[in-house]
Amino acid sequence: MGTRAREIVGPDVDQIVEMLDAAYASEWLAYYQYWLGAKLIKGPMKDAVAAELTLHATEEQMHAVLVADRIIQLGGTPVLTPEGWAAKSPCAYDAPADPYVAVLLDQNIVGEQCAISTYKAIMDFCRDKDMITYNLALTILEQEVEHEEDLQSLREDLDLLVERGNR
Ligand code: FE
Ligand code: FE
Ligand code: MG
Repeated sequence: MGTRAREIVGPDVDQIVEMLDAAYASEWLAYYQYWLGAKLIKGPMKDAVAAELTLHATEEQMHAVLVADRIIQLGGTPVLTPEGWAAKSPCAYDAPADPYVAVLLDQNIVGEQCAISTYKAIMDFCRDKDMITYNLALTILEQEVEHEEDLQSLREDLDLLVERGNR
């Protein structure tokens, strides 16, 4: 823990740690949902989509690293168990039970939209209180916004392919 680092944040520091821990839990769920989806995927464009899902898995894991480091700086302990990931996460884990490309894309789009809301809420709460966490949430938010658009544009391409194939 950084004692002075914690002090400068002020009285809301424990609430900020709680928000970060919830986001941290979501990152691991997102990581696994992407990682396993990329292994199981079936259907048109599966290689292109699998490559994007695998890259996103890696990026979610990087987010977990960044968030864990900030939790520790502020004197917190990142959630200790996988059971805790599901319990604490504001974003649901949606198992890739149906491996069809479109289904996986839609599930992960919902996940990204939840991640975007999560980091936006952290930024709103930290503004004028904790510029370091604010800045961290901004960095991650930029990547979650990119993730959403990557998936939505693949989803659009898939629709075009299927639609033209049926003509
Ligand atoms: Fe993430
Ligand atoms: Fe993401
Ligand atoms: Mg991407």
